Amino acid sequence: MTTTKQGYTHNLLLISENQLSLKSLSGFSESQGYQFKGVDGCDSALDLIRRSNFDLIVLAVGHTPARWNALFDFVREKRNQLPIIALCDAGLFGEFSNRLNHPNIYPLVAPYNPVELDKTIKEVLNQRRIQFEVNTLQERIKQSEKMHRFLVNNSPDIIYILNERGEINFINDRVEKLLNISKEELIGKHFSTLMSEEECKQHPYVFNERRAIKRVEQRSELHLRKRLYLNGEDKTTSLSMPFEISAMGIYEIDRRNSKPQFRGTYGIARDITDRKQAESLMRFQAYHDLLTGLPNRTLFRDRLSLAISHSKRSGSKVAVMFVDLDRFKLINDSLGHTIGDQLIQAVARRTSEILREGDTLSRFGGDEFTLLLPNIRSQEDAVIIAKKILHELKQPFFIENHELYVSGSIGIAIYPDHGEQIEQLIQNADIAMYHIKSHGKNGYQFFNEKMNQSYAERLTTEQDLRQCVEGEQLFLEYQPIYNVQTSGVYALEAYVRWNHPQRGILNPAQFLHVAEETGIIIELGNWVINRVCADLEEWANPILTIAVNFSPKQVEHADFENMLMSAVKAHNVSPNQIELEITEELLMTDLNLITSKLKRLSRLGFSISVDDFGTGYSSLSCLHKLPINTIKLHESFLRHISNQYQSGDACIVSAITAMASGLNLNLVAEGVETQQQKDYLMNLGCNTMQGHLFQGPVSSQEARKIVVAPVLTE
Ligand code: C2E
Ligand code: MG
Ligand code: MG
Repeated sequence: MTTTKQGYTHNLLLISENQLSLKSLSGFSESQGYQFKGVDGCDSALDLIRRSNFDLIVLAVGHTPARWNALFDFVREKRNQLPIIALCDAGLFGEFSNRLNHPNIYPLVAPYNPVELDKTIKEVLNQRRIQFEVNTLQERIKQSEKMHRFLVNNSPDIIYILNERGEINFINDRVEKLLNISKEELIGKHFSTLMSEEECKQHPYVFNERRAIKRVEQRSELHLRKRLYLNGEDKTTSLSMPFEISAMGIYEIDRRNSKPQFRGTYGIARDITDRKQAESLMRFQAYHDLLTGLPNRTLFRDRLSLAISHSKRSGSKVAVMFVDLDRFKLINDSLGHTIGDQLIQAVARRTSEILREGDTLSRFGGDEFTLLLPNIRSQEDAVIIAKKILHELKQPFFIENHELYVSGSIGIAIYPDHGEQIEQLIQNADIAMYHIKSHGKNGYQFFNEKMNQSYAERLTTEQDLRQCVEGEQLFLEYQPIYNVQTSGVYALEAYVRWNHPQRGILNPAQFLHVAEETGIIIELGNWVINRVCADLEEWANPILTIAVNFSPKQVEHADFENMLMSAVKAHNVSPNQIELEITEELLMTDLNLITSKLKRLSRLGFSISVDDFGTGYSSLSCLHKLPINTIKLHESFLRHISNQYQSGDACIVSAITAMASGLNLNLVAEGVETQQQKDYLMNLGCNTMQGHLFQGPVSSQEARKIVVAPVLTE
C-alpha cells in the first residue's frame, strides 16, 4: 500500500503525449494504489501543477524532449520543486543529458520496467519525505536560533558564556547598557574584569561554576563594576552594582573515555539594584517612624536590649526617658494635622541635635518620644539631658507663620535602679511621665515605687469604672448658685460622685480623667443627664434650672444631641431647665463643628455656660460668635482677694466682669468662700455666686428641700 503513516495517499501526475503510454502508466499507478492524474501536454501539465499538489511527476518523454523544456525549466527554477521521473528512450540520454542533470530529475530508460519504476517511485518519494523533514527541522532550528538571539539580546539580564578558563566567549548586548562596557571589549577577557578584587576573592565560583543544572537553582548575589565617566571622557571610575548570578557548568562527553569534560560556564547576571533599594527601604520602614525618620519602638527595644547587655558587663547605667509634649493635641486639633506633623518633625530635629552619638531618640507614637541614654554614670547625667530637652522645647517653633509654644513632660527610668527588663523600664518611664503630667506638666521626674501604686490604682479605677456605670455606685450632689441680691437660688449645679465599694466616696478628680481617656465618660454622662432629668421631673419645679458639666469628649461625640434630647423627653423636662456647662478647652477643637452644634442646642432651648472661664485660651471673638448665656469665673481668681484688693487676680476679675457685661453675658463667680470675696464681686456688679460661703454641694434629698420650697429668682 502506498499511503503514508499519516494516512496520506501519494498523488502522482502522469504526463505523456502518447495515449497508449499514458494509459499504461495510469494502469500501473492504479495497480500500485497511487492517486493520479494524467495529462498529455506540457501546458496542461504546468497548469495542473500550479493548481494542485502533487508528490511526483512521471513523464514519458517520447521522441521530442524539447517539448518539455518549459516543464524542466519550471522544476529547475523552483527550489524544492516536484521530483520528476523522466522515462526516456535510451538513445536520447546522450543528447538530453544536460536537461536531465538535476537532483530533482530521475531519468529512467523507456519502456519502463514496472518493478523498476515502482522501486524508483518509492525511493523518490522516500527521499522527498526525508528532504522535507530535514527542511522542516532546519527551518525550526533557524526560527529557534532567531528567537534565542532575540531573547538573549533583548533580555534585561546580562547573559554570558565562559570557557573553561573563565574567559568570556559570549556576552549579550545588555552588558553595554548596564555596565557601560562594550561586549567587544570583553570577549576573551577573564570574567573577573567585571568584579573588584575583593569580590573576586569572595565569589570565585562565578567564573568557575562547575555545578551542573540540578543545583543551579541556588543563586548568589555579588557586585559588578559599572564604568562611570568623570570629567567628560577623560577619567573613569567604577560603581559597584548588585547583581544576582545564576550560573551552570557546561560539559561535553569526551569521546576517548566517554567521561564528561568541563568546558566552561553559562551564566545570567540580573541587575537587582531596584530590588535591593526596595528591600532596604522596607527594612528602614520596619524599624523607623516615617514622619520623623527616627527609630521606631521595635528598633528602640532592640537598642535598649543591647544597652542593657552592655551595662551588665560594664556596670554602667542606662537611662530610658519618656518624653510627651504638653498641649500638642490642642495645636493639632486647632491648627490641623499638617501643622501638627511639622511640629513633631521639628521637635524630633531639635531634640536629636542635643544628643550624643550612641543615644537613641525614637518616636513611640503620636506626640510621644522615647530616649535611650546608654552607658551613663549616674542619674545626674540623665538630668542634664532632660533639662536640655525641656529648654529646647521651650523655645518657640516657627511653622507656616505660626509661632508655636510647647513644653514637655519627661519621665525617667534608670537601669538597673528602676527595673532590669526592657518592658519594665519603658513602662516605668511612662508612669513617671504620667506623674509629671498630672502634677502641672513641663518638667522631668524619675520613677519611684509609689508611682507604681497610683498607676496600678489607675488601672483598677478603669476596670471598676466599667462596672460602676451599670451598677448603683454613682450618685449626684447639687450645689446651689445664688443671686446674692435677692438671696434666692438662681440654679443648681450637678456634680457626679462615685461610691466606690472599697475606696469610699470618690470626687470627679479621682476618676474623671480615666473615664475620659477610656471613653467611659460617654456612658457616665448619659447616666448623669438622665439622673438630673429624673430629679427635675420628681421635683416638679418648672422654673428651676440645673447646670450639668460636660467635658469636650462628650460634646464632640456624634450622639451628644440625641442623648440630651432622649433624656429630657423621657422625663418630660423642658430643655430650658438644663444649662450645659462646657469648658474653654472645647472651643479649641473644631470650632465650626462645635459652633453649629451649640447653636442647634441653643435653638432647642438649652442654655450654655463656659465653666472655669479665664483658665483656658478662648478668644473674645469666639465668645461673641457662640450662643453663650453665662460665663463662670474660676475660683482661682478669687483666692488672693483680700481687704486690700491689691492683687493682679483682682484686676483680672474686674476685667472679666466688665467684659461679661459688655458682651451681655451672665457672670457666675465660682468658689466664693469669704465675705471679702463676696463684697468685692458685688462691688463690681457680679451678683450670681456659688461657693462654700453660701452652700457646698449637698445630696439630692437636701437639694430637694431647697428647691421644692418656693424658688426665688432675679
Ligand atoms: P466645676 O464644674 O468647676 O465644679 C466646681 C468644683 O468646685 C466642684 O468640685 C465643687 O464641689 C467645688 N466647689 C464648690 N464650691 C467650692 C468652694 O467654695 N471652694 C472650692 N475650693 N471648691 C468649691 P467637684 O465636684 O470635685 O468637681 C470638680 C470638677 O469635675 C467640676 O468642676 C467639673 O468640671 C467636673 N465634674 C463634676 N461633675 C461632673 C459631671 O457630671 N460630668 C463632667 N463631665 N464633669 C463633672
Ligand atoms: Mg461646673
Ligand atoms: Mg468651675
